[in-house]
Amino acid sequence: MGARLEVSAVLLDTFGRRAVDLRVSLTDRCNLRCTYCMPEQGLSWLAKPTLLTDEEIVRLVRIAVTRLGVREVRFTGGEPLLRPGLVGIVGACAALDPRPELSLTTNGIGLARTASALREAGLDRINVSLDTLDPETFQQLSRRNRHHEVLAGLDAARTTGLAPIKVNTVLMRGINDHEAPELLAWCLDRGYEQRFIEQMPLDPQHGWDRATMVTAQEILDRLRTRFTLTPEPAERRGSAPAERWLVDGGPARVGVIASVTRPFCRACDRTRLTADGQVRTCLFATEETDLRAALREGDDETTDARIAELWRTAMWGKKAGGGIGDPTFRQPDRPMSAIGG
Ligand code: SAM
Ligand code: SF4
Repeated sequence: MGARLEVSAVLLDTFGRRAVDLRVSLTDRCNLRCTYCMPEQGLSWLAKPTLLTDEEIVRLVRIAVTRLGVREVRFTGGEPLLRPGLVGIVGACAALDPRPELSLTTNGIGLARTASALREAGLDRINVSLDTLDPETFQQLSRRNRHHEVLAGLDAARTTGLAPIKVNTVLMRGINDHEAPELLAWCLDRGYEQRFIEQMPLDPQHGWDRATMVTAQEILDRLRTRFTLTPEPAERRGSAPAERWLVDGGPARVGVIASVTRPFCRACDRTRLTADGQVRTCLFATEETDLRAALREGDDETTDARIAELWRTAMWGKKAGGGIGDPTFRQPDRPMSAIGG
């Protein structure tokens, strides 16, 4: 009986994977327009009444943590720092029992102002996206002149003592790919752990091209022109999407997320929630499960149990992989910024 209860209290799929890592998108809006993520004119944003309120987000996180065995929650977007209630959401999630690990993925704009409030509210870790050290290349990649704000945000995160600080970088051929070794040196100097992410086909303008994307192998080759990289033992990777290498013997490390050329779907432990309350089993899922409608039917034990059941059923149907390599691969309708990267 005990064992049966335990199985029904977690998010399992038919491939035996268990989701313990929840990605919550807090908004689909953004103050940058990274070329690999959004078109210049932006997107048609989700309508306000469809967005979950701060209380609704915390309620869903509570259901995930107390009824479904979720242990880690990462807030993302769009740009999560644009959400006015972010510090309150982090604080309310930090007060949950059991307390989940809390992290944030951000472009860093505005972090200089909020880093210390976020830390005090209970944020454990942060990832800041930085693709270049050159302000002009930043303008070219993000279509905005805000490089200095990202750097100030990173500095503030470090001063506040948030650790580890990870720096996410997408390399684009002919634009910033030559910067890989320089970016890593810059991160090492500051004690940041850098993670290069292969560009994925999740942009609404369908600009992704397998033939021209910068692969993990190329990234490693470029880094090896300046550093000695030693693979970290596979058992230390667990379900982490990044493969990691010790840099010059360690202890500093660099990660590469090879979602396209070396997908890690077999070990995936993620479940995703969009800003409008849809569960997604994968970045590349083409189906979603609506929790918002159920949520708005009532605020009681019975409704929470029903939401947990809907969530479990959704995850049970998770596919084996994202399928980027399949000839029948179809890009999901929702772009990365609206799913939550
Ligand atoms: N706005 C925040 C940021 O940029 O960090 C959070 C959301 S963003 C979608 C999360 C991460 O996804 C960023 O590190 C970004 O570089 C990455 N990303 C966006 N589009 C991508 C794509 N097509 N392929 C790979 N990574 C992508
Ligand atoms: Fe905005 Fe992040 Fe997408 Fe860049 S990657 S446009 S910062 S959501």
